[in-house]
Amino acid sequence: MDYFKYKQYEFVKANADDRKVLSVMINPEKACIFNCQICNLGQTKYQGEWHDFGPIEDSLKGLEERIIAEKPDIVEVTAGQGDPLTNPHLGEVVDLIHKHGCAARLITNCYLLGVEGHIETSLKFEEMIAGFCFVDEDTFKLIHRPRVESQFSAAKQTESMIRFSHQYKGKFTLRVLLVKGYNDSDEQVAKLKEVVDQIKYTTLWVGTWPKFNVSDERVAEIDKIIRGK
Ligand code: SF4
Repeated sequence: MDYFKYKQYEFVKANADDRKVLSVMINPEKACIFNCQICNLGQTKYQGEWHDFGPIEDSLKGLEERIIAEKPDIVEVTAGQGDPLTNPHLGEVVDLIHKHGCAARLITNCYLLGVEGHIETSLKFEEMIAGFCFVDEDTFKLIHRPRVESQFSAAKQTESMIRFSHQYKGKFTLRVLLVKGYNDSDEQVAKLKEVVDQIKYTTLWVGTWPKFNVSDERVAEIDKIIRGK
């Protein structure tokens, strides 16, 4: 069964730089390390570091056919539902993309990047867009709701994300997502800045969470603070 999905009307679109992008979603149901209170996708069905949705052959064949037919310059891999790093077949996906001479871009949250078992696959991508929100322990636990047995903490995940960014040789777009009432105070922004300052990124994007919207003016203010201007 082919369980990959593509953006229906724009599965091949042109970037601002004129590159053709094919966007593939590799998780047919929601699998993520977290079960965030604020998630737009509802409850996490499979919460953990990994979830295998079964044999991948038909899905890879479908992706290969799309690549051959559409000849994209870059293939963007997203979960669609959750985080693509939870899918144990991600390595096969990136290898297939490379086999056809395309670059690969990973869209992920930052939290599994530096974790053993995920690092090697992540490093294969030429580009990465990785977002994070919280560095404060209480907020991290309250919103992300990590499983106790996963032993995830803000400090541990922040450290592994920083470490990963220094190993990564590709183009790293770091997204800081502001959540109204949870990480937009001056105190929280100072903590975010401390972390961002230690991450090696190519591009920084400061934005806001759809349901907990921080005003455009405050986002612009925080953007300046985080960039140190
Ligand atoms: S990390 Fe992202 S995808 Fe996962 S539960 Fe939280 S908001 Fe949803």
